[in-house]
Amino acid sequence: MAINKEAYHKILTECKGKATLVSVSKTKPVDDIEALYQLGQKDFGENYVQELIQKQATLPKDINWHFIGHLQTNKVKFIAPFVYLIHGVDSIKLLKEINKEAKKNNRVIKCLLQVFIAQEETKYGLDENELEEIISYYITHKTEMANIELAGLMGMASFTNNAEQITTEFAGLNLMFNKSNAKLTIINYKLSILSMGMSSDYKIALQEGSTLVRIGSLLFGSR
Ligand SMILES: *Cc1c(COP(=O)(O)O)cnc(C)c1O
Repeated sequence: MAINKEAYHKILTECKGKATLVSVSKTKPVDDIEALYQLGQKDFGENYVQELIQKQATLPKDINWHFIGHLQTNKVKFIAPFVYLIHGVDSIKLLKEINKEAKKNNRVIKCLLQVFIAQEETKYGLDENELEEIISYYITHKTEMANIELAGLMGMASFTNNAEQITTEFAGLNLMFNKSNAKLTIINYKLSILSMGMSSDYKIALQEGSTLVRIGSLLFGSR
């Protein structure tokens, strides 16, 4: 399966000045990643720890690896030496574990809190109250959490063709992003990344203030 260069350049243009493009390469061979890398792409997203470790070992070392799947606490140690940004943090327990493993590796690992914004019940993430709890926790424990950088929020919209519905969900996440930042001013801190938008809904996400889109099938073909 060849990569779609045309789509790549089109999406880059659409993202320009607004958002970072993370190309989601899960289940795709390293040859496809290499091909996109040759075009200048540096940010890649993976969902499975084992697969990520194997790919990272063989591919160029200046790739920014984004972990966008559901991360189990006992697996943090495997990706802590190199992971660039962890998108799916949904508990204080996981945040603490990342902090611990980052410290062992003498690193600061950037994290996003995953917020549940969709209507389906299958998606992971925090509700608004849980998000507020973690933000409050971070405000009071920031010095102990020196090896993580709370960089922003991530969310996935409902799997639907209803553009209005998706717009509402992304707008809701943007609102929580701004509210979180309002709370964080007390420690002079600011979230900078709002990770939302996939192949089917990234245009809406960009309209609603996304600063990072995660796109797989448009670039690599369907899985
Ligand atoms: C797989 C995945 C994507 C990419 O999905 P596409 O529809 O192929 O663009 C984005 N974000 C997350 C969290 C994913 O699991």
